[in-house]
Amino acid sequence: MNTPGSSLSQFIEEYPLYSRFGTDQPIEAADLDNLAFNFFCQREKEVQPFRLTIPSSNGNGIHPPAQLHHSAEEFTGIFTGVCQSCGEYKITVVVNGASTEDPPRYFIRKIGQDPAPESPAVKLPDDLAIFLDDDGRECYRKALINLEFNYGAGTLAYFKKAIVNGIERIIETLSNPYSEAGSKFAEAFNSYKQDGQRTKFIEDATPYLPETLKEHGAAILLVLHDALSLSIQELTEKECIKKSKDIDSLFRYMTRKIIAEIQETSQKKVNGKYFLRYS
Ligand SMILES: [Zn+2]
Repeated sequence: MNTPGSSLSQFIEEYPLYSRFGTDQPIEAADLDNLAFNFFCQREKEVQPFRLTIPSSNGNGIHPPAQLHHSAEEFTGIFTGVCQSCGEYKITVVVNGASTEDPPRYFIRKIGQDPAPESPAVKLPDDLAIFLDDDGRECYRKALINLEFNYGAGTLAYFKKAIVNGIERIIETLSNPYSEAGSKFAEAFNSYKQDGQRTKFIEDATPYLPETLKEHGAAILLVLHDALSLSIQELTEKECIKKSKDIDSLFRYMTRKIIAEIQETSQKKVNGKYFLRYS
């Protein structure tokens, strides 16, 4: 159910303000009530389990979110997230639910958060942070802050800086020299760096990717790799935002899949190298 790691929890934990979380099922304020998620507790200076609650109408004079609008999936609600470890530290999230004509028909987005998400305490999801160095993490945060304010060029500039190492680490992990598939993948990637032939890379690399990355992995790597050479001056603000959102979601997708692969494998780390599952 609502355990940390479910997608609604991820929405609270890591979606930037105004970023839409869409579904084809209506999401109501009640679906967020009692939601478990992980967040940085400023009091304990650590990531802790939190639980979300809808403040009652007799609490601070705030009305239950569901009453603010006529239909259940169109709501604006002020939710309180309470740290389950100390029971004292609280965050406030303002969530707006709406529906559109186009699929996904229903979406929610955060339209406010206190403390503000740009606080340096904002934590990147673990699986993402693992693939970034300190600079990378800082840049990734700054990219997300710029994205909140729709600063296209700034967002893209920070994402480019953030993922330089990230992509190297992803490639390194997939090029595991202890497995035959890993070496073949490394070969395919090196040829691509020389000849720049995308289709050939996708064909050559795909058979040597772990099972869960076979479908999209190679293409995503190309998009991420090529993002590093994007020329921001030649793009409009809107194009920068679009590219930035692609980078963000593709980088998250890749790092999640890889971490899941590593967790699935029964083998442990050897000499600091990860093993991935290959069929
Ligand atoms: Zn706490």
